Amino acid sequence: MISAEIAGKQVKRMFQMRGYPKGEPEALKELVKALQISASEDQAKALVSSFVEQATSESQCPLPGDIRKAVKSMQEESRPDPLCQKCEDGWVIRTRAGYSGATRCSCWAPRPAAAWDRVPLPGQPGYFEDDKRTAEMLRASEVKL
Ligand SMILES: [Zn+2]
Repeated sequence: MISAEIAGKQVKRMFQMRGYPKGEPEALKELVKALQISASEDQAKALVSSFVEQATSESQCPLPGDIRKAVKSMQEESRPDPLCQKCEDGWVIRTRAGYSGATRCSCWAPRPAAAWDRVPLPGQPGYFEDDKRTAEMLRASEVKL
């Protein structure tokens, strides 16, 4: 959660976009409120940058729901390392005395959804089982927010 002042500063960067609520303080307040759920100023800044930098003369200013959705997808949740060699999707299958069970791998850590979702998983196009470096490169190129 960030202050309305900090969020407001970031929201103003979208001033040039179509549909920006110029002269509509109530609508503007809703945008600020949505952006306030960001974890930090840096996160809010990165998020607004992602809207502003891709903006063209056709781009619509995001609505509060768009902002909330984008903030949530940036929040880091605990996810397994997609490049982990020890597990599959965060789970290790162990067989002991004839019984097999899945244990959570040690690679779970807070990771942004974007970084995780875009790495191709086994069976998806772009995934090369024998070339984890490719997956690593793909991930590195996506994470620069
Ligand atoms: Zn793992």
